[in-house]
Amino acid sequence: MSRHQISLLAIAVAAVTALAPSPASAQPKKAPVDCEQVKCIALTFDDGPGQYAGTLLDTLKKYNAKATFFLEGQYVKSRPAFVKRMAAEGHELGNHSYSHPDFTKSEAGKIRSEIQKTQDAVKQAAGVEPKLLRPPYGLADLQVSDIATAFGMPMILWTGGSHDWDTKNVEAIKKKTLEVAQRDGIILMHDWVKQTVDAMPSIVKTLQSKGYTLVTVSDIVKRQNLQPGDIFPVPEGWER
Ligand SMILES: [Zn+2]
Repeated sequence: MSRHQISLLAIAVAAVTALAPSPASAQPKKAPVDCEQVKCIALTFDDGPGQYAGTLLDTLKKYNAKATFFLEGQYVKSRPAFVKRMAAEGHELGNHSYSHPDFTKSEAGKIRSEIQKTQDAVKQAAGVEPKLLRPPYGLADLQVSDIATAFGMPMILWTGGSHDWDTKNVEAIKKKTLEVAQRDGIILMHDWVKQTVDAMPSIVKTLQSKGYTLVTVSDIVKRQNLQPGDIFPVPEGWER
């Protein structure tokens, strides 16, 4: 073999090596979604992982739908396998405090520890840290915003609620969810409500038949260019 051929061979080997998937990229990458181009909606599930999260994840997987889970640290601790699976299957993980206190009635130290303990629990369970905060009950004030800023997190509320925790009825949950569904909407649901999880196959199929792509909150808010401490959607009377 001539020297020229050997160097060509070396280049070919290098090229093949570069193309081969490296073990470091074993985590499935979520394909980017452009909500300018497609009709997006984000279903969000609070207070979990709830005991029915596994069934919900099966449904989302079956219909190739993504969701966002605003997790409560205490349940991340007790059900870490669900959290790991959520991340592995391309869903977004958000922080919803550790034990669900009203942050607007809490001392700064308490708020910080509620957020930090949940960040730590999610990191331990799934190897990723939430980038979004949903304060319990959707209640925030300037102190909460300042603390969210320190954590580098915007706060995410919702554009519509399924009222699932209230009705606990499959038909009512489906009806309300479809009623509040809108392009780029962020819908509040709960994976500890069994009837929500039961209603999900029908809700997902109906939304998809109406042309929606079910995406994560980060896909929806990409164009908002949210900064840490920002709140979205901005609630009435909110001033920064
Ligand atoms: Zn909650």
